[in-house]
Amino acid sequence: MSITVSHHSPSSTPGQVLACLHWSITSVCVCVCVIAWALLCVLGESGLGKSTLVNSLFLTDLYKDRKLLNAEERINQTVEITKHTVDIEEKGVKLKLTIVDTPGFGDAVNNNECWKPITDYIDQQFEQYFRDESGLNRKNILDNRVHCCLYFIPPFGHGLRPVDVEFMKALHEKVNIIPLVAKADCLTPNEIKKLKDRVRDEIERFGIKVYQFPECDSDEDEEFKQMDKELKECTPFAVIGSNTVVEARGQRVRGRLYPWGIVEVENQSHCDFVKLRNMLIRSHMHDLKDVTCDVHYENYRAHCIQEMTSKLAQDNRIDSPIPILPLPTPDAETERLIKMKDEEVRIDNYSLIYSSVAPSYRCFDSESLKKA
Ligand code: GDP
Repeated sequence: MSITVSHHSPSSTPGQVLACLHWSITSVCVCVCVIAWALLCVLGESGLGKSTLVNSLFLTDLYKDRKLLNAEERINQTVEITKHTVDIEEKGVKLKLTIVDTPGFGDAVNNNECWKPITDYIDQQFEQYFRDESGLNRKNILDNRVHCCLYFIPPFGHGLRPVDVEFMKALHEKVNIIPLVAKADCLTPNEIKKLKDRVRDEIERFGIKVYQFPECDSDEDEEFKQMDKELKECTPFAVIGSNTVVEARGQRVRGRLYPWGIVEVENQSHCDFVKLRNMLIRSHMHDLKDVTCDVHYENYRAHCIQEMTSKLAQDNRIDSPIPILPLPTPDAETERLIKMKDEEVRIDNYSLIYSSVAPSYRCFDSESLKKA
């Protein structure tokens, strides 16, 4: 049996679509369906807790074969790109997620242009997609574009360092950047607030374009609007990672044990881990993909086409056998029909993603931890 995705009128709000999908998912038996999600790029210098956070987010152990370098090796190390794939599955619905890690980033004494291998990597994925899209078989393109970049900011400083500013600015036109304050348990709530305010100010002052959460529909219910507001207010997300399960208030939870008490990774009064996980694999997954496709990839594509055209003109090959014709301007009725079709496709995609992701997400709830 295949997943039943009901059709919704274009005026359905995301909340209505989700409610309806939740019903259809729980009421039918779903066969195996694979959703290849995104590439998630994890950035920050060594020791900031990147591997631990990724393992905590996806309940895996991705870095068991990792070789830890000593200080001297780290200084000489160049930035590498490594890829890991995680399959998240529940009730036959699979989500395929690729995580790109960049060991060596920011570890050297001279970090000049240390972002270059990463921007090159992102461009290569765009280029591959562009080639596939221009090829004969456009139906089954493997989408390896990077949909999101988690950027780890150290908790010890006083805001963004020059390398953070330089790096984010080098990347912000290419990928959705989500800034995180790493190891938030090293700071008091007051310190976290101050650091977040400062990072937000600096992001604005230096003109860094981080991922912007989409505006909430005015006809959404109040609870949804409140959640949306809280999500927007808590960026940069202050996160804590842990790969150990500890006992807190009679429950087994993922956390860090200290002489003075326990820091719970999934306790919303301790950190923003749950909010980050929810937005990444549930509420904003689709939007991250959309922005990648409609904004970052389109910019790349337009740039490529412009370069190709100007090269053709330079080579005096403008009278080539394939003439470049100006596209006709669509009339109002054609434009209306295109918009309607786009909206239908968008809602269908939205439905498909959510219908498949919602159950997967439940595999992370605290029930499964209790059983762990
Ligand atoms: P990576 O090099 O950025 O991947 O960092 P790791 O995930 O290997 O973590 C480096 C060290 O920091 C390990 O000893 C972790 O146990 C510890 N660590 C990871 N996350 C946190 C956190 O949220 N808080 C604290 N206090 N320590 C953490």
